[in-house]
Amino acid sequence: MRAVRMTAPGVLEQVDVPTPEAGPGEVLLRVGAVGACHSDLHILDAAEGAFPVPLTLGHEIAGTVDTVGAAVTGWSPGDRAAVYGIIGCGHCRACLRGLENQCRVVPVGGIGISRDGGLAEYVVVPASRLLHVGDLDLTQAAPLTDAGLTPYHAIELARSALRPGTTCVVIGIGGLGHMAVQILLATTAVRIVAVDTNVAALDLATRMGAHDVVRAGPDTVDAIRAIVGPPPDGADVVLDFVGAEPTLTTARQVVATGGQLLLVGLAGGTLPVRPVADEPPPIPLETSVQVPFWGTRAELAEVVALARQGELRADVHTFPLDRAPEAYDLLRRGEIHGRAIVVP
Ligand code: NAD
Ligand code: ZN
Repeated sequence: MRAVRMTAPGVLEQVDVPTPEAGPGEVLLRVGAVGACHSDLHILDAAEGAFPVPLTLGHEIAGTVDTVGAAVTGWSPGDRAAVYGIIGCGHCRACLRGLENQCRVVPVGGIGISRDGGLAEYVVVPASRLLHVGDLDLTQAAPLTDAGLTPYHAIELARSALRPGTTCVVIGIGGLGHMAVQILLATTAVRIVAVDTNVAALDLATRMGAHDVVRAGPDTVDAIRAIVGPPPDGADVVLDFVGAEPTLTTARQVVATGGQLLLVGLAGGTLPVRPVADEPPPIPLETSVQVPFWGTRAELAEVVALARQGELRADVHTFPLDRAPEAYDLLRRGEIHGRAIVVP
């Protein structure tokens, strides 16, 4: 079969590989759609040894069951499914509570991250990772599994602060951010302030229903402060879907005293936490900072439900498998707005 693999650090290419076979408890899925996530660029850019090579990328997968392995119940050839990408140990304290994204045994990873993923004609996944998607188009189902799930989980973590009348600043309106805006609209009554360097991303935020948009630049903090008010007031919740030095600086400078800062993006910025008596603290006092990772299977089922109810729809741009490297080049250049979806 054809697969798009990281064959060496930084090298992404289409190759022919044997079609894998489903072992006990697994299914062979015919990939219908796979999202191109910015995390794949971080994986490609990572130092040698950080990820296995060769590795078929693609952790945002939806498809159709082709064959089922031994001991699989509840799934048959022809069933359509979205794939929950994390494979926790299933037995630790976190997994027992359904928090496989906090597994205490299996290191951070998943399908398309620590084992072969969906940028291929077929992928083998444990049957326990599949969720029914009803009549959703597979190009819509795929982005739910990360671009939908990750913001949904972050919003869940902050839900107690997302009360009617509060303000949520969303930084980075790309694949994750444009889903975050829709999830906030569908599940809260907060004022949404969308922030991005890119005008097309801000147009997308407006189309998705953001109440205010701010073009990131030298005056970002002042522009956001004009909306959320001066310190010690500020944004009740800040969702940073970039995680670079400038966005983290903005995030900590606009979050309210006692607010919540959720750092989702993996761009490598740092967040100073250094309370001292005789200086303004780098982060307002009483502010909580969380670093969410992906989400839970139960949350993915809720994200799928939101989409099936018509309240969540990714803005997708499709590419055939042989153009996947081009889709990633465009993503790196900031020329994908919404989500690039590869259709093998
Ligand atoms: P994307 O490329 O689709 O979107 C990023 C957006 O951020 C773009 O619209 C871009 O214009 C904007 N941006 C870049 N620099 C900016 C700046 N300085 N100020 C304001 N906006 C800026 O990326 P994505 O696929 O949505 O992923 C976003 C980030 O989230 C990536 O770092 C990715 O690795 C990370 N991620 C984390 C998790 C997790 O579990 N923590 C899961 C998925 C993705
Ligand atoms: Zn576990």
